[in-house]
Amino acid sequence: MISEVSKKDCVGCKACGDICPANAITYEIDEEGFWFPKINFDICVKCGLCDKTCPVLGCHYASQENYKEPEVYKVYHKDKNIRYNSTSGALYYGLADAFLKDGGYIVGCVYNDDWKGAHHYISKNYDGLKRIMRTKYFQSDTEGIYRQVKRLLEDSEKVLFCGTPCQVSALYGFVGKEYSNLYTVDFICLGINSPLVFRKFIEELEKRNKAEVQEVHLKNKSKGWTNLGTMVKFKNGKVYYGNRITDPWVNAYVSLRIHIRHSCENCRYKSFPRIADISMGDFWGLRFTAEEEKYGVSLALVNTLKGGILLKNATDSFVIEKRTVRDAISGNPMIHDRVKQNHRREEFFERINNEPFSKVVWSIKGSDKIKRTCALIWDSLKRFIKNVVR
Ligand SMILES: Cc1cc2nc3c(=O)[nH]c(=O)nc-3n(C[C@H](O)[C@H](O)[C@H](O)COP(=O)(O)OP(=O)(O)OC[C@H]3O[C@@H](n4cnc5c(N)ncnc54)[C@H](O)[C@@H]3O)c2cc1C
Repeated sequence: MISEVSKKDCVGCKACGDICPANAITYEIDEEGFWFPKINFDICVKCGLCDKTCPVLGCHYASQENYKEPEVYKVYHKDKNIRYNSTSGALYYGLADAFLKDGGYIVGCVYNDDWKGAHHYISKNYDGLKRIMRTKYFQSDTEGIYRQVKRLLEDSEKVLFCGTPCQVSALYGFVGKEYSNLYTVDFICLGINSPLVFRKFIEELEKRNKAEVQEVHLKNKSKGWTNLGTMVKFKNGKVYYGNRITDPWVNAYVSLRIHIRHSCENCRYKSFPRIADISMGDFWGLRFTAEEEKYGVSLALVNTLKGGILLKNATDSFVIEKRTVRDAISGNPMIHDRVKQNHRREEFFERINNEPFSKVVWSIKGSDKIKRTCALIWDSLKRFIKNVVR
């Protein structure tokens, strides 16, 4: 029963609310900023549809045809501007572009209007694609999206859905049968962050810069893809840039892993076979050229026949090279590994209610400004030497 799914297991996909014919399921946001279903038993008709849909109670695949091991490709988009504006090598943009040209709908995650949250959104045009592209490293609100996707599928429209592996599994559970017009993309997922913490990060920057935010760009490449840059532009013209050494958001996520949803610790979508037709990622672990280090390289895991069709339809946009499963795994352990929660997570969530987000991150990491400045100088020196050797 979905009412018995524990808070540690619920992935927050919101498919149970979408399937409920009695509208008996709403969501509560907990003190960490994650949402959980709440059932109103007074109006619940006990139809059991939420149980059948829940990806925690049953792991849903499109069909039995998912490859036991994926085909692996190193991919990047030929257009440098598109690549610069994407998170990895713009695999997603190329796939979505081909899909739009073929008359399909794309479904993915966009920032809310205030840039402090994100939700799933459907589009049939390039304005929509510009909003859907770029990765938002915190949980996207998918309420209502499964119903909308199913309506499109029933109207024989082609749909390309992109989301976390658990959201893709939830969609398969929701639609309940094989649709030849449904294509899916997921990604290698370290774990999904708290939307509340992202909001706190942005609000702190707004306060410091005395202006509202105008644009957020996570994994911004102005100083290189491997720098894991965070760029935030403000309405008064100011610009914030931090990287994997100086930015508290990246440090809280990548290094401390301190505000990831509890369910990610038991993620059942690791390893193979994967859920979606194609899985995307950063192709970490390769020896990059200077150009690749600046603009990014994608990992493409083709998991089904449909995935092969998606990639083939977009090949003109890409530089593609076949690689092995071993290449993929060696630089990207999160293909297999589940995230472990930081043992100071509780303290972190208690403190961010009373202290600035960045102060809490640096104090838990034990990194003061002098240490970070030294690390930054050392890192720049190493990069300089590497470029000279190259
Ligand atoms: C939380 C998270 C953790 C990740 N962890 C890893 C990792 O450990 N290793 C790795 O190699 N790659 C990881 N990725 C994937 C990687 O960061 C890129 O998203 C991926 O390579 C696609 O890049 P791109 O340039 O092709 O497309 P982009 O232009 O970045 O397109 C992103 C696509 O992802 C979807 N998307 C963006 N944010 C979200 C979100 N919050 N929820 C659901 N869907 C979203 C968008 O709808 C869009 O379709 C992670 C992504 C996320 C969101």
